[in-house]
Amino acid sequence: MELTEEQFQRYARHLILDEVGEEGQARLLSSRVLVIGAGGLGSPLLLYLAAAGVGTIGIVDSDRVDLTNLQRQIVHATERVGAPKVASARATLAAVNPDVRVETHPIRLEAGNAEALIGAYDLVADGSDNFATRYLLNDVCFRLEKPLVAAALSPFEGQLATFRPYLGDGHPCYRCLFREPPPPDMVPRCETAGILGAVAGVLGTLQAVEVLKELLGIGDSLDGALLIYDALRARFHRIRITKDRECPTCAHPAPGRKQPALDRQPASP
Ligand SMILES: [Zn+2]
Repeated sequence: MELTEEQFQRYARHLILDEVGEEGQARLLSSRVLVIGAGGLGSPLLLYLAAAGVGTIGIVDSDRVDLTNLQRQIVHATERVGAPKVASARATLAAVNPDVRVETHPIRLEAGNAEALIGAYDLVADGSDNFATRYLLNDVCFRLEKPLVAAALSPFEGQLATFRPYLGDGHPCYRCLFREPPPPDMVPRCETAGILGAVAGVLGTLQAVEVLKELLGIGDSLDGALLIYDALRARFHRIRITKDRECPTCAHPAPGRKQPALDRQPASP
């Protein structure tokens, strides 16, 4: 892929980095990323992926923009209250970077549509706000061998991890960390629990960084680790996640699995 003169200018601060350069930028431009949720996490995530020149961005969200969203969902605007979130996000991303193709999916992700949708992308970024989606994504991304960069929020805290369990030993999945979803009444959501909006911004931005690293194959992946941000104490913690040998999702890969699609592990000599 040859960059145009305009792209050389737009991505100049990427191109001068050894870790990105023309090859990396071309890789970003040819990448397809699926973002689940155009909300508090999805907003900064979508903005940075578009600004970075991720060539095709899919957005899954069935909601419409509500006035109460705007306290944290910075991809939307007051004049677009009532509009579908996917359309509102697409308008913002087009204004940031017309280079980027945005594919909108105004649907709820469900078992019946997840495989077809996820199969069309290279990587999935989960900014959803519910456990049903989180577990569904974990299982489908494992089966389809797609890297999953997942973030979650509570009022003053956020968590971030990358999952590539199809790579085998040493690569846990979300179910290795939390085997079963908590009971529904134990789970406060933003609508009822509240959240300091900027906390979502921190996590969604960190998520964008990890997505770009996975696409470029640079740095240390968050695969096998959980990064926790404690906003009130201004602290980050990082804990190791180990693969659960009894994990119902990833402990026993099907025999005759094909090679992983986006394997960033060093090649064996
Ligand atoms: Zn697992």
